[in-house]
Amino acid sequence: MANSLVTVWLEIHLKLSTTTKIFCRCKNDQSLDNNEPNTNICPVCTGQPWALPQLSEEVVEKGMLIWKALNCKWNNPSRFDRKSYFYPDLPMGYQITQLYTPINVNWEVPFFMDNYEKERKVRILDAHLECDTAKALHQWETMYLDFNRAWTPLIEIVTWPDFCSSDEAVEFAKEIQRIAKWNDLSDADMEKWQMRVDVNVSIRKNESDPLWTRVELKNINSFSAIKRAIDAEVLRQEQAQAAWEEILQQTRRWDDLKGQSFVMRSKEDALDYRYFPEPDLPELYLSDELIEKVKARSLTIPFDHIRKMKNEYGFNKEYINTLIWDYTTLVFFNKLLEKGFEAKLIAKWIAWQISAYMTAHFVPITELPVDEEQLIEFFEIAKEWKIIDNQMKIVMEEMLATWASASDIIKEKWFDAPAISADDLRGVCKSVIAENPAIVDQYKWGKTSTIGFFVWQVMKKTQWKANPKEITGILTQELWN
Ligand SMILES: [Zn+2]
Repeated sequence: MANSLVTVWLEIHLKLSTTTKIFCRCKNDQSLDNNEPNTNICPVCTGQPWALPQLSEEVVEKGMLIWKALNCKWNNPSRFDRKSYFYPDLPMGYQITQLYTPINVNWEVPFFMDNYEKERKVRILDAHLECDTAKALHQWETMYLDFNRAWTPLIEIVTWPDFCSSDEAVEFAKEIQRIAKWNDLSDADMEKWQMRVDVNVSIRKNESDPLWTRVELKNINSFSAIKRAIDAEVLRQEQAQAAWEEILQQTRRWDDLKGQSFVMRSKEDALDYRYFPEPDLPELYLSDELIEKVKARSLTIPFDHIRKMKNEYGFNKEYINTLIWDYTTLVFFNKLLEKGFEAKLIAKWIAWQISAYMTAHFVPITELPVDEEQLIEFFEIAKEWKIIDNQMKIVMEEMLATWASASDIIKEKWFDAPAISADDLRGVCKSVIAENPAIVDQYKWGKTSTIGFFVWQVMKKTQWKANPKEITGILTQELWN
């Protein structure tokens, strides 16, 4: 088993970060969970029969920016369609979406695989605007409805069946999230359901076989769950195949805690959505002004930045991961580049200590205890290479702990005192040995790990000016004298 070819495609829903909802003037609040239920509502988004939708231009603009980032061209005009189905979170009995794809060119979106070693491309089939539903909350036997989320704007991105593994699907989804976040198109926080992914999985034996039945797994909201869901589904289909069971076309719900999926509906009870052109909205014509505005806006494409880091600066995956972890880190990195600092120098210090601090305290680089000017001063000093890395590490540590400036710390610790001569260093080593006879005995009786103690003492006495390797060399000689 496990020799089948895997085909995967994705449907990614992104909540657009606009000020208002898609068809009314209600606030499009991104922190939905913090709000009192049903405080952001109006006759339109609660589905009153006499209330008419009015399309937000900001939503269209953000949609166009996503199409631009995905290398897609948009149809002009396009239109909205009514998708009819009944569910309590949709009291009007329909959702407004765009069935007839608003983009007309199947372009490709590049992304990186295998720790930025390999470049891949995936084609986009469709990316359309639609509205979200209300939120249904189940408590005991009762269902409560919160309309704050109703008719907030979504863009649904559908790919071609181009993925060959769960890893590829995950890396692509990460790239989409970065595109959305870095360009302020969507906050794309998966935990807050601002980005959710449906995966479609189909397996076959040979490349020449037709794609078999597809199974869709819905509403996955973490990258690790995408991987687990696809891997589990491939295994389930392989087992079914080995047992000569038919794989049915189904929509399944992935339960990440159980690590299992459950049938939601099968092909036989697939819903007939009775799509038809939305009668309450005119065709959507994009004005020249809006088209020019979108064309003029420059977008940050994560793939391009990663490629530059890899090919031009020769960064390893740790450096790249650190710099793309958060958009503000990348902005800071680019700012320092513009100021003429060497790329590797910047990446090294961000990856070493600054990122450790950010992860430990859950803060972006813009919210460190030291401000940008203080950081730039630090990089100025590091650039001169007058003070060795050991000392600079201590400077950064102190900066983050005491909020003091690099130059003050250096003065206070005497790091700017002239470099220590070889003779002086030997003198310090000798005095440390003379001061600790008991530990010298331990060392001579075979507990050689005590050398670390001596090295540390010498480094402290020399204000971290000396190279630990050099100290160890001198100490090993002197300990046996
Ligand atoms: Zn409303």
